[in-house]
Amino acid sequence: MKITYKTPIVEMQGDEMTRVLWDWIKELLIEPYVELNTEFYDLGLPNREATGDKVTVDAANAIRKYGVGVKCATITPNAQRVEEYNLSNMWLSPNGTIRAVLDGTVFRTPIMVDGVTPFIPSWTKPITIARHAYGDVYKNSELKVNKGGAKCSVKIEYADGSVQEKPIADFGTDESGIIQGIHNKDKSIASFARSCFNYALDTAQDVKFGAKDTISKTYDHNFKDIFQDIFDAEYKDKFASAGLNYEYSLIDDSVARVIRSDGGFIWALKNYDGDVMSDMVATAYGSLAMMTSVLVSPDGKYEYEAAHGTVTRHYYKHLKGEKTSTNPVATIFAWTGALAKRGETENNTKLVEFAKRLERACIMTIESGVMTGDLALLFKRDGVTIKTVTSREFLLAIKDAFDKM
Ligand code: NAP
Ligand code: MG
Repeated sequence: MKITYKTPIVEMQGDEMTRVLWDWIKELLIEPYVELNTEFYDLGLPNREATGDKVTVDAANAIRKYGVGVKCATITPNAQRVEEYNLSNMWLSPNGTIRAVLDGTVFRTPIMVDGVTPFIPSWTKPITIARHAYGDVYKNSELKVNKGGAKCSVKIEYADGSVQEKPIADFGTDESGIIQGIHNKDKSIASFARSCFNYALDTAQDVKFGAKDTISKTYDHNFKDIFQDIFDAEYKDKFASAGLNYEYSLIDDSVARVIRSDGGFIWALKNYDGDVMSDMVATAYGSLAMMTSVLVSPDGKYEYEAAHGTVTRHYYKHLKGEKTSTNPVATIFAWTGALAKRGETENNTKLVEFAKRLERACIMTIESGVMTGDLALLFKRDGVTIKTVTSREFLLAIKDAFDKM
């Protein structure tokens, strides 16, 4: 008897190699065991083009409605893709569109296996990075100063006619330089804070947040204050009864503490810090192919995916009929994340257990020495011989391990 559940999960198909893996994962690891009830959206680039990208907005609204989604990696078009797919428009990043609709925060967590040791060996537990994905330098306004005698300022003009202005720099006789204006919104920072605190309660992890409030006494300090106010008013008691901690520290200090830590917490970071630190943390844990990603909205909607892209290079080999050794683990974990969340929302322990068991089967398969090429380069475990396999052989080995459990 297959496992069933009531409310649909929003399924978003994607592009290239991950699109191929998507169907194989469903065929071999999910559909034999679970009676899938999904609302399906094809976010593959050809269908985004055919629908004028309406499909992406529809999918995002469906996640709002059903609360749980699972997404395959998708192409974000650039000039070369516009040509390759003969696009009428350089469609926006689907992840950006979905994030904007859900007002969510992305949490990235590495999947750890015995045999792939992080570059920081004391990191025995995963570090989850939460990056604030709105504003700051990503929505900036920049100018080059290119004449002498420049005086630069920031200025606010209110609708009621009042004005606030503050100098940035007086360039004097210097003839060249640069200036920049950035912004953020309290509403967005508050959503970020709530998403972090909710996800912390959800996954039973502490939250660390770092910013540069000592230097940026208005801008960064505002982040610090909003986090603290929301924590004190809405989360302090819940954290206390769950035995969890929220800790703010200066960003430099935060970095030092994270390096010395053993992991197992959520590291909340401003947009730029999160951009930089997520690449550092991903690399330190080993492989981008082992990084999961979940978008959490402040009102508790969840969208699961792999952190990597569509693995274009492998796809072109696949199209030529060559077998590829693309790692499907993060995409499998996107599915198990969504199924476990749906199990939780419906008190469906069978579904939750299925998801956890499938995750264990992936890890056991790798730890037994059977893995894709990316991991074979990193893996080292006493007494275990590495067998590098193709994507499909790997999925079959996971299925075998799962069936034996
Ligand atoms: P990518 O797809 O993540 O792949 C970059 C390289 O990382 C691959 O060529 C491969 O290295 C390695 N890699 C990534 N995932 C792997 C896996 N599962 N198994 C084995 N190796 C893996 O990034 P990209 O090539 O820069 O981007 C390709 C497309 O994906 C772009 O169109 C981009 O817009 C899109 N993208 C989508 C998302 C998303 O939907 N969330 C995120 C990022 C990028 P080797 O070639 O050395 O084997
Ligand atoms: Mg980055």
